[in-house]
Amino acid sequence: MTKVCCVCQRVQDGDHWSMTNALPADERVTHGYCPDCFSEAMAALDEFIRKQQMIRSAVASDSCPMLVGVLCA
Ligand SMILES: [Zn+2]
Repeated sequence: MTKVCCVCQRVQDGDHWSMTNALPADERVTHGYCPDCFSEAMAALDEFIRKQQMIRSAVASDSCPMLVGVLCA
């Protein structure tokens, strides 16, 4: 089974990921992340979690009444 990156569409070939124009029609594929896109996805996830924690701590500490008003509306 051939692994294709769901972000950049590169195809795994052993330890390498390369661009390919077309896979054979009968080729079975599965999707995942290549190392580059995995790093980017994890960075984006970290950023998302960081923002969520900021919102949560702002709500918990009542330091942002406007934000609390928005969330509780
Ligand atoms: Zn990729």
